[in-house]
Amino acid sequence: MPGYRLKCEEVREELSAYLDGEVPIWKRGLIRWHLMRCRDCAAEAFELRMVSRALRAWGDVTAPRSVVENVMRAVRLRRRKMEEERARLIARILRIAAPVAAGVIALLWITLLPAFYLSYERGKVRPLRDELVTVRVIPQSELEQLVEGRMF
Ligand SMILES: [Zn+2]
Repeated sequence: MPGYRLKCEEVREELSAYLDGEVPIWKRGLIRWHLMRCRDCAAEAFELRMVSRALRAWGDVTAPRSVVENVMRAVRLRRRKMEEERARLIARILRIAAPVAAGVIALLWITLLPAFYLSYERGKVRPLRDELVTVRVIPQSELEQLVEGRMF
């Protein structure tokens, strides 16, 4: 995006990933551009680079068993809490959604049923019997007599 600039917060969020080379190439350029112009972010990047270099120099250490157990316990606890939260959320959504859905269905039923009935009635074919008329050809003179006879 031409003219697009990252804000400091956006750069800080990605800085660690940027230094590890895990940022998509289009973003890498934007971050580099920002770091050339922003002293604060550049200082932060420098610090991060120093820290990760130091960490790499230390190498791996094995944590004591108790630390590992504590971490694993915390992770399990957190996961259980998240599952409980999700279950509560689903229950709440259902409590709200179920009556709403029932109402919508009832409303549709009430409004659409008469319409269906009417269209069904309108679509019905009426028998033609009533509309049939008998036509008979009679001579003019006979017709005149018939009309006079009726009139008087
Ligand atoms: Zn900045």
